Amino acid sequence: MQCPVCNNLNAATDVRCFQCNTTLIHETAGHSEGYRKTTQELDARVYSGVGAFFGFCLVAVFLKFILPGVTLDDREIYLAAAVGAGIGGFIGRAFLRARFK
Ligand SMILES: [Zn+2]
Repeated sequence: MQCPVCNNLNAATDVRCFQCNTTLIHETAGHSEGYRKTTQELDARVYSGVGAFFGFCLVAVFLKFILPGVTLDDREIYLAAAVGAGIGGFIGRAFLRARFK
């Protein structure tokens, strides 16, 4: 396995780099604190992003096509959908926290 830090070529089963001691196989060595924080932050971004996307689409579709007798112009629908995206992002993060606690 090639080391991502020093590019030293190690054996495929080496847990740590022979040259710079960088962890190569995290599953075996146990995740470092930095690695876990990074993946958690990445997860949070993905979840809040997906939540925001669905929140935006739900509010936009709901206001535009489903709710009868609403006379909002596109700009107002967009603003409402942006609020929906914010709420969706918040729900996405809350969902992630509830799932991994
Ligand atoms: Zn290395």
